[in-house]
Amino acid sequence: MPFKTDIEIARGAKKKPIQEIGAALGIPDQHLLPYGHDKAKVSQGFINSLQDRQNGKLILVTAINPTPAGEGKTTTTVGLGDGLNRIGKKAMICIREASLGPNFGMKGGAAGGGHAQVVPMEDMNLHFTGDFHAITSAHSLLSAMLDNHIYWGNEQGIDIRRVQWRRVVDMNDRSLRQITSSLGGVSNGFPREDGFDITVASEVMAILCLSKNLSDLQQRLGDMIVAYRRDKSPVFCRDIKADGAMTVLLKDAMQPNLVQTLENNPAFVHGGPFANIAHGCNSVIATKTALKLADFVVTEAGFGADLGAEKFMNIKCRKAGLAPDCVVLVATVRAMKMNGGVSKADLGAENVAAVNAGCANLGRHIENLKSFGVPVVVAINHFVTDTEAEVQAVKDFVAEQGAEAILSRHWELGSEGSAELAARVAEIAEAGESQFAPIYPDDISLFEKIETIAKRIYRADEVLADKKVRDQLKLWEEQGYGHLPVCMAKTQYSFSTDPGLRGAPTGHSVPVREVRLSAGAGFVVVVCGEIMTMPGLPRVPAAQSICLNEDGEIEGLF
Ligand code: ADP
Ligand code: MG
Repeated sequence: MPFKTDIEIARGAKKKPIQEIGAALGIPDQHLLPYGHDKAKVSQGFINSLQDRQNGKLILVTAINPTPAGEGKTTTTVGLGDGLNRIGKKAMICIREASLGPNFGMKGGAAGGGHAQVVPMEDMNLHFTGDFHAITSAHSLLSAMLDNHIYWGNEQGIDIRRVQWRRVVDMNDRSLRQITSSLGGVSNGFPREDGFDITVASEVMAILCLSKNLSDLQQRLGDMIVAYRRDKSPVFCRDIKADGAMTVLLKDAMQPNLVQTLENNPAFVHGGPFANIAHGCNSVIATKTALKLADFVVTEAGFGADLGAEKFMNIKCRKAGLAPDCVVLVATVRAMKMNGGVSKADLGAENVAAVNAGCANLGRHIENLKSFGVPVVVAINHFVTDTEAEVQAVKDFVAEQGAEAILSRHWELGSEGSAELAARVAEIAEAGESQFAPIYPDDISLFEKIETIAKRIYRADEVLADKKVRDQLKLWEEQGYGHLPVCMAKTQYSFSTDPGLRGAPTGHSVPVREVRLSAGAGFVVVVCGEIMTMPGLPRVPAAQSICLNEDGEIEGLF
């Protein structure tokens, strides 16, 4: 029997009106701001009123290093949330919103898959509630005000060769990566080099996702460095006086979006920062609100655990005062086989030896996560092609590492398939044994922070950085930015900076190419390798086959 596609399953969903989903969480009607029938924002007033409540348990879903075989973090996040509800726990899911642009490049969504999805998935992958458009607008307002400031006399003395603030659009458009702006004569301003990033790479996105409330948001927007003067002193967004109006444009986008799973359980889908030059998790405000509304909150961090979970813990949890009670590490038999040297075309055949060979990557992640003081459970995200012997090989390996692996069949069966995983995760979280702590303190030097991550998480021997990079870090320390965490930008495919190096490499070096200060978001970005902040479209973009069918439904998107 052929399996239904994600969109076919999603179309068959028996959605409840969003007011019912809100009511089950105790959100009164007047505090639910509906966007249509199946999406709603939660009012700031209601969020403020929850502050004295106790927090539920926080569960982080992360994964091994991604392979082209697919790991299914979002699918497992949704499946685990449904599983917890199925066994009688009050659970919520918190995931990121999707960037619109990439959906028109490669096929694929961000709402989970199979019988573990969040709906309405078409909306979620397109305009949704307009949050990303608001971010694009707020970002563009600052771009316009900055060039306008220069045009009308440049009172701040901005060196137009040192403007840091690039423009953004939510589209994969490589032709905009590097441009010249203000061409066409005197009335159009002063020509300068400029360029576009995709909206999710905007510092405004990272700020929205880390801010506690609207006043914190405005403060952080004001703190952003937009340019430097000839004497290299920074010009802040506050100097251009854009922070107030940007906050106005972002006031609705700051409110979390409530939707539901295929099984009518509540989910916040809010925020979506890049997982390389930013921290890659949904908003702090959504996670914190969910912790007040539910006894269990399941959330996801982007990429593999070396990047995603590391940033979740060292940046998001540190900044927001959060602490995970249990970490679920997603692995698949297929990914183990690829790590063990099998090509994608041969994944269908049973190969226990390759599974065994590929498990080193999984083992390293288990060890790393434990070093944060959190209990770890491995979820084997079951593919229908997995054989019993292969699954057993993963379980045996994990047991040797002093952890446990549980097979979960949520993709195929929904919560019926994830109930066992849910029961074990709930038990661990409720036992309260997590002794979470970030792996470095605020008060060591920025370079020592980079070294700590490189040595303890990536297991590199050394960090290579030339004098220019080290001097820059020292200068920021002198300027009062030394307490910030570091945000590593490297390939997600390997523990090392070489995407081809699978498994659990040791003895490598981590070369730092460049460092960037995100003074508003509150981290120093450490660029190790090529980082793309404006993707392009493939030769045959998915957009060519996306259309509406006769019933007005979207075809070709998933
Ligand atoms: P991630 O969050 O790790 O990027 P997703 O959960 O979004 O991954 O899943 C990526 C793709 O893989 C989705 O299209 C999903 O339908 C598919 N997928 C996930 N789990 C399974 C599974 N167990 N069997 C088949 N396909 C799956
Ligand atoms: Mg995902």
